[in-house]
Amino acid sequence: MNTKTFLIYLLLCFSIAGQSVSAATGAPIRDYPFEQVAENTWVIHGPLEMPNVSNQGFMNNPGIVLTGSGVVVIDPGSSVQSGEMVLRMLKKVSDQPVIAVFNTHIHGDHWLGNQAIRAAYPDAPIYGHTEMLAMVAAGNGDTWVELMDRLTEGATKGTRVVGPGNAVKHGDTLKIGNKTFRIHHYGQAHTRTDIMIQVEEDGVIFLGDNVTANRIPRMTDGNFMGNISTVEKILEIKVKTWIPGHGPTGDADMVKAYRSYLQAVYSSAEKAFNEDLDSSDVKAISLQETTKYKDWSGYDEELGPQGAQAYMEVEAAEF
Ligand SMILES: [Zn+2]
Repeated sequence: MNTKTFLIYLLLCFSIAGQSVSAATGAPIRDYPFEQVAENTWVIHGPLEMPNVSNQGFMNNPGIVLTGSGVVVIDPGSSVQSGEMVLRMLKKVSDQPVIAVFNTHIHGDHWLGNQAIRAAYPDAPIYGHTEMLAMVAAGNGDTWVELMDRLTEGATKGTRVVGPGNAVKHGDTLKIGNKTFRIHHYGQAHTRTDIMIQVEEDGVIFLGDNVTANRIPRMTDGNFMGNISTVEKILEIKVKTWIPGHGPTGDADMVKAYRSYLQAVYSSAEKAFNEDLDSSDVKAISLQETTKYKDWSGYDEELGPQGAQAYMEVEAAEF
């Protein structure tokens, strides 16, 4: 091989390698800055739409808490690219290392970004509910990786499952730096795996998808009555800053508004059941009862299926 042929050969190798890299890994996600919501807490309020090509799958509310000894991350997003963006944005807030991660529940839009945190901070423990660890062990994470890849047409490629390794349950308190993180879990609500994380000293709580604002989340892994009673229990806690899984951070009224939505769908289902109507008739009733929520993202897609689901729950409660 002469020098010229060798150079062409080298160029070919690099261009093939370059192609395989771009095909194996999605592009970085654009910057979404952190917004301060409490003295030591920042949140990126992500897009409200379902994972798609334009949001590259990023759609949740990653949070960070400064503890004096390092940074705690909550829900670093839906992909390795989301996790990398969260770390990039975190560096604009603090030069402290990440010392722990919490995952609020099994839905992959919240936790597949763990991979990026683990790569940068291999010693930081990742906490999730016992039931979440069991579901990841059973392969549920792979289902989420595939779903994100499909919905974003490959934008999340390169993402792999890095689940929580440290189980927590209701009532646990973890002292991290100068903060106390208290875990709340009241059975099946949005899923069976939900934890809500209260930062006691600062009056802050991360609600996961047990409460959302401006977005109707999927309830297919949840339970209306369970979610309503979870919200009622959490409203008894003294908190100033309520951080939903999707949508803007708010006050107790934001939490009550979501509870009212769940109650409206459930009571519409009860009405249909009591009037001997079918599950498919719930939507016509709930449309009247939920007009306040009609502009929430996901409303048009979810109202029908959620009415039918609530009807099944009403039916099951009758027997
Ligand atoms: Zn969820």
